[in-house]
Amino acid sequence: MSDVDSTKPCRKCRNPIRPSPRQIRKKDFLCGTCRVEYDRKRREKASVIKQGDKCAECDLEAVKWLGYYRYCAVHYRKLRVRAAARQDGKTVPSVAVVDQLFADVLANGMVCECCKRVMGWLRVDAGNCTASLQHDHGGGYRIICLACNKRHASYAGDSFYSLKPGHKQCHACKVVKPLSDFHNSSRGWLGKTQRCRSCTKIVNARRSIKSGSH
Ligand SMILES: [Zn+2]
Ligand SMILES: [Zn+2]
Ligand SMILES: [Zn+2]
Ligand SMILES: [Zn+2]
Repeated sequence: MSDVDSTKPCRKCRNPIRPSPRQIRKKDFLCGTCRVEYDRKRREKASVIKQGDKCAECDLEAVKWLGYYRYCAVHYRKLRVRAAARQDGKTVPSVAVVDQLFADVLANGMVCECCKRVMGWLRVDAGNCTASLQHDHGGGYRIICLACNKRHASYAGDSFYSLKPGHKQCHACKVVKPLSDFHNSSRGWLGKTQRCRSCTKIVNARRSIKSGSH
């Protein structure tokens, strides 16, 4: 038998391949490249959540895969917050504790206790207002939005919670100052810039020295 005789055209791209005994038995001739693509498409199809698919934990409609199971938004987030804590090497609250935290948040209309925005369970819907598990320095847990969770981390200890209304911490000097000490910014938290006025002045002065012509 010549080399040419033992090749077969790939059923997708028609490039000649040397089929394995298994491919010959199954009469399924696919080249390596087309096989990878085929497998990827099959996995994608299998991972799509169809209408009417139920959460593995309750009767709600499933919206997201996690491991081998599909979950509703709440159960997905419940599992994710514990998994994330484990991954980050933080203490992992028990299932009962997480259940209680989530029940409290739902009873409060999903409002983040820090910024008073209504949180969502999924990143795609809620962005930085997604509900997240906060590990307090005092040892407790809270469910607050992602943005506040991040902010908490930049404040000393748990001082973020006792922040006086109309105040925020400057990212540069770390001093908590009244909002009037910050310039306006539509993008910044509370409509103010990250740096206070005096830190902004210092940065601007440094910049003008650097770009100075002398
Ligand atoms: Zn092919
Ligand atoms: Zn569920
Ligand atoms: Zn918040
Ligand atoms: Zn400052």
